[in-house]
Amino acid sequence: MSTGAPAPSDRNSLTIGPDGPILLHDVHFLEQMAHFNREKVPERQPHAKGSGAFGVFETTEDVSAYTMAALFQKGVRTDMLARFSTVAGEAGSPDTWRDVRGFSLKFYTDEGNYDLVGNNTPIFFVRDPMKFPHFIRSQKRLPDSGLRDNHMQWDFWTNNPETAHQVTYLMGVRGLPRTWRHMNGYGSHTYMWVNKTGDKFWVKYHFHTRQGMQFFTNEEASAMAGSDADYHRRDLFEAISKGDFPVWDMSVQIMPYAEAKTYRINPFDLTKTWSHKDYPLIRVGTMTLNRNPENFFAEIEQAAFSPGNTVPGIGLSPDKMLLGRAFAYNDAQRNRIGTNFHQLPVNKPKVPVNTYMFDGQMTYDHSGSAPVYATNSGGRAWADETGPVADGWEADGEMVRSAYSLRPEDDDFTQPGILVREVFNDAERQSLVDQVAGSLLGGVRSPVLERAFDYWKSIDAEIGKRIEQKVRAGAGDKPAEGMGEG
Ligand code: NDP
Repeated sequence: MSTGAPAPSDRNSLTIGPDGPILLHDVHFLEQMAHFNREKVPERQPHAKGSGAFGVFETTEDVSAYTMAALFQKGVRTDMLARFSTVAGEAGSPDTWRDVRGFSLKFYTDEGNYDLVGNNTPIFFVRDPMKFPHFIRSQKRLPDSGLRDNHMQWDFWTNNPETAHQVTYLMGVRGLPRTWRHMNGYGSHTYMWVNKTGDKFWVKYHFHTRQGMQFFTNEEASAMAGSDADYHRRDLFEAISKGDFPVWDMSVQIMPYAEAKTYRINPFDLTKTWSHKDYPLIRVGTMTLNRNPENFFAEIEQAAFSPGNTVPGIGLSPDKMLLGRAFAYNDAQRNRIGTNFHQLPVNKPKVPVNTYMFDGQMTYDHSGSAPVYATNSGGRAWADETGPVADGWEADGEMVRSAYSLRPEDDDFTQPGILVREVFNDAERQSLVDQVAGSLLGGVRSPVLERAFDYWKSIDAEIGKRIEQKVRAGAGDKPAEGMGEG
């Protein structure tokens, strides 16, 4: 039994006679049933379906000029955990639906846990966290039927043109990675790095897969969704079981602190990339996943990541999405798992913790009789930073509600236009047209449909025209339901 005492039976409940009623004092039976009722925790909202593995990050290059973070000093090896996921699907949904993939990393460093909670794309759909819950709901299910709905997805996207870059990425080949091992990862946000002398830099993280990029076609992905909904989870687990350990090379783009003020786009806007030509990739090290979880629930379902978990030498930035997430992620885990989720083995730092977060549900670690308040006369340490902070930035001005102060090249369509015209090849452009047209033909009605044509023409006139033609042809040259309006 959970008390350590011998369990009377895991096969037969206690009854009066073989056919008689169950007795209330069959405590073992009651405990089993009561625990069973509580054995699930709320799934993540979003990123519910995923899995992960443990591994090691090795810093192979000298980047000490940019950060003093202990884990990024040359030669340092740091134990870590990675969790990959889809975004919109629920915990049982197929791994191979077209979606962005989560790429969450936890580094158990000598200076505390550092979490980098990114995606397999370098950008995101929105730039203000106020829009995030609306965005996620629009990608999930209708309130009445409980069905996924293309019309709702496109309604949100076309009403929020800052989504154009990420939607182009998603509708391209990278929207269907063949496995988690065959995709890149990106920190996506802009972070701050600080070196030993206090110099500050803005940084973007890139993880390039050594397995090579591989994708599914729509047909392959749909077939796989039907035959093996857990294909990505299985692939990672089996590869690691066989000793075929996946490896990613980590690089960063580094922007000197002062250049953020003059760069031609707002460098904190999560819907934008920094051109490699402006800020070339600088190698840092390698990530290798080499150990499967021993228990999925304890080590993956209860793994708690937050982009707010930083270590000395790494800070946040004025990226509004990042600042919103820095609150929301740990709060999500308090809701899902409990107040003291950070005390669970998978989330626990390997360094000793001295925190004044006190008591709460399921307290396991505690500070004995030490003072529970700071400042105190009992000799217990407390933190006391004052003055300008090492990883801070200047901010002034009146309080406003506004998108970023946009710069001349900061429109929503230039970068997706470059992606379509200069990065995609002919086959990828055709696949984009087919994918978008197919999606629009899947129930998108007026006036969203016409807005979608304009959206794509704003990204690229030619692609927009081809999408419109294909949709109109697919709808039998007649306006689809409601398509004639507007
Ligand atoms: P580059 O030509 O130097 O970079 C283009 C990058 O696009 C490549 O390095 C690759 O990134 C990525 N890429 C290649 N094929 C595809 C594809 N089919 N779908 C999505 N991404 C692909 O130019 P810039 O840096 O000036 O960027 C141009 C455009 O490329 C941007 O507008 C953006 O849309 C896209 N991009 C830019 C990235 C960046 O951080 N600068 C990262 C990814 C995409 P990778 O090496 O990471 O695979």
